[in-house]
Amino acid sequence: MTQQPIIKVQNLKKYFPVKGIFFTKGYVKAVDDVSFEIMRGETFGLVGESGCGKTTVARTILRLIKATSGRVFFEGKDVFKLKGDELLWFRRKAQIMFQDPYSSLNPRMTVFEIIMEPVRFHKIEVGDPEDFVVGLLETVGMNRDHLYRFPHEFSGGQRQRIALARILAMKPEFIVLDEPTSALDVSVHAQILNMLRDLQRERGFTYLFISHDLAVVKYMSHRIAVMYLGKIVEIAPSDKLFEEPLHPYTQALLAALPIPDPEYTRKKPKIEIRGEPPSPINPPPGCRFHPRCPHAMKICKEKEPPLTQVEPGRFVACWLYTGRKG
Ligand code: SF4
Repeated sequence: MTQQPIIKVQNLKKYFPVKGIFFTKGYVKAVDDVSFEIMRGETFGLVGESGCGKTTVARTILRLIKATSGRVFFEGKDVFKLKGDELLWFRRKAQIMFQDPYSSLNPRMTVFEIIMEPVRFHKIEVGDPEDFVVGLLETVGMNRDHLYRFPHEFSGGQRQRIALARILAMKPEFIVLDEPTSALDVSVHAQILNMLRDLQRERGFTYLFISHDLAVVKYMSHRIAVMYLGKIVEIAPSDKLFEEPLHPYTQALLAALPIPDPEYTRKKPKIEIRGEPPSPINPPPGCRFHPRCPHAMKICKEKEPPLTQVEPGRFVACWLYTGRKG
């Protein structure tokens, strides 16, 4: 991993309109002023409860959906301004692996066609197509026998391997892994995750790893950002986040994590959050976490805490840490 950012996200917002019969009733603030950088060769984890906006962040970065405002830079280029050949270049270099491998593969195509379709679209020079596809299949733990079979003939883990082979065919640099193992049997989780880690070591890929599962995010990520209701509330190196979570929401997530380690269980903060997350259509004023936070103060209800550097490499959005030097 280098200290050169490959992706820079600045003040990204994505609001979805809520339509009434005659007019727009309001907006779901799915992503609300999110900024971060991902270094080349890094795995950057994005974690939070379902509906916190993590998948929307990824899809907006990749231009699969249009941002409401903000900017994204990929290798220094302003992604939202790319057109023509430059946009095609971005579409090749930045790929996504979806949660459900079955819906991401065309059931009427063979494995060979599935992998070659984007190769032909992007006019990528590959030599002999069959040898090229077999090489990719072998990289992901499959073989020539699978070449002319259809997706329904494979298990979930194999379908995810095929999806990965198609991504590798694009020779990408940045890959969004959107809950890549959560639809799979537990027995194949580790195989897929280890393969992704091995590929990163060999090819220097940069990953944005999205999951609601903190244990998996910890295993995969160099740094982790915690999202709550459309906002990033904490960013920290993976080990630091688990050793000493700062934001009360991160503390609560970790406190709820079952870890079979009596030492850790004794040390881990005892914090419980109350109630359900509020609606993203009408989020609470001030700190969005204040209705559920056991440490909420007067200022928390009035003013939104900015994401502030409190130690080198550690950022937190909480008034408890205001004034702590970065
Ligand atoms: Fe809790 Fe206040 Fe910190 Fe929000 S800013 S997490 S309400 S202490």
